[in-house]
Amino acid sequence: MPESRILRPKSQEAFRRAKRLIPGGVNSPARAFSAVDGDPPFIARGDGPRIFDIDDLQYIDCSCARGSLIFGHRHPRIVAAIEEALKAGSSFAAPTLRETELAELIVEAIPSIEMVRLVDSGAEAITSAIRLARGFTGRDMIVKFAGGYHGDVDALMVATGSNPILAGMPGCPGVSFGATNGTLILRYNDVAALESVFAQHGDLIAGVIVEPIATNMGLVSGTAAFLETLRRLTQEHESLLIFDEVTTGFRLAYGGAQQLVGIEPDITVLGKIIGGGTSAGAFGGRRNLMHRLMPAGPIQQGANGAGNAITMAAGIATLRELRDHPPYEAMEHAGQRLEDGLRDLLTADGIPHQLVRLGSMWILFFTEQLIDNYDAAKGCDAPRFSRFFWAMMDRGIYWPSQQMETAFLSAMHDEVVIDNILKAAGDALKFMAGFAR
Ligand code: PLP
Repeated sequence: MPESRILRPKSQEAFRRAKRLIPGGVNSPARAFSAVDGDPPFIARGDGPRIFDIDDLQYIDCSCARGSLIFGHRHPRIVAAIEEALKAGSSFAAPTLRETELAELIVEAIPSIEMVRLVDSGAEAITSAIRLARGFTGRDMIVKFAGGYHGDVDALMVATGSNPILAGMPGCPGVSFGATNGTLILRYNDVAALESVFAQHGDLIAGVIVEPIATNMGLVSGTAAFLETLRRLTQEHESLLIFDEVTTGFRLAYGGAQQLVGIEPDITVLGKIIGGGTSAGAFGGRRNLMHRLMPAGPIQQGANGAGNAITMAAGIATLRELRDHPPYEAMEHAGQRLEDGLRDLLTADGIPHQLVRLGSMWILFFTEQLIDNYDAAKGCDAPRFSRFFWAMMDRGIYWPSQQMETAFLSAMHDEVVIDNILKAAGDALKFMAGFAR
């Protein structure tokens, strides 16, 4: 297998040291680079669109903390807001004004959310949203779609996207049959399957969880027919439609993917960007629904770190910046420039590929086949991807280490940065031409 041509001795030593104490040396599996058969660089710091490893190598960051950093690393207003908050203390596990302020920003941005609960991560928000759907409807069954990854949530640990497949555990050991027993799996964008499952089980379904634009099995937009059918069937059967906008929320538009697709869910789950670079999650929806949560209602939900001052300050600064200086148009131009450039390079070299881009998110598969579902995404040319990945890393581009994983630009990735990515990609493809295709 082709590995990096560049030595990273400090990172290699750091990885050995970490592996002695932390399983696999990492605190989340995809960080270990097992999919590309190599060792990860250890990151020392970030600055705008760039990160620097402990061997002092720099990279243009095309992951942006998996889409969390819409303003890149260390945006001055976000840093200032965190510093200001710290002066008064980091966490109180008691009500604070900042929590209401972040809630106000979210509710103003996303009309389907009348009330919101702030939590510590995307997975925690998803877990709570599912409990809310079950508690509200008095039903157990949850529908999800193959390839949909919704965080480390037992009930949804079946046919997930990027992480668990690579760890080789679609049926993950440790997840009980009881936990996934009530989870039905359908194919994404399959309208007929939806109609059929609702015809058979509609009155048992508590909710359907879906990314309106799927980001963990490639980048696949829900078709209008699929999303409209979902909305209609859930309404007809009094099930709840849950949009997982952990990745898409505030990424493509200030109102989330739901603003673009024109469909309002019953519950929206947020994460990533709302934490402004710290770990965060939130879920929200109609007032009568959210009122079922404790202490207003009977459904338990709570966490010690929820609403901590650092996350609130970072989140508020990020959403204000997005509201007052929306970067979406500029990011679309940057994305288009990147897409055009990459497509030209790949086509000129006759390399079979599927390149999908939406705004500041994109994904590149080495295949001729259209990738519109999980099975198709699984069948792509992994060795070629691995070669490309390391050729890019060695040219200073930090590309997501799994082919199925979406790549991200931040608002700090300007034209010069995009041209640097394209120059590296051109060199990487030339270098790869030396290998058998
Ligand atoms: N939902 C989606 C679509 C995600 O991509 C992720 C994480 O990548 C999550 C939920 C879980 O978020 P977290 O890692 O903050 O728990």
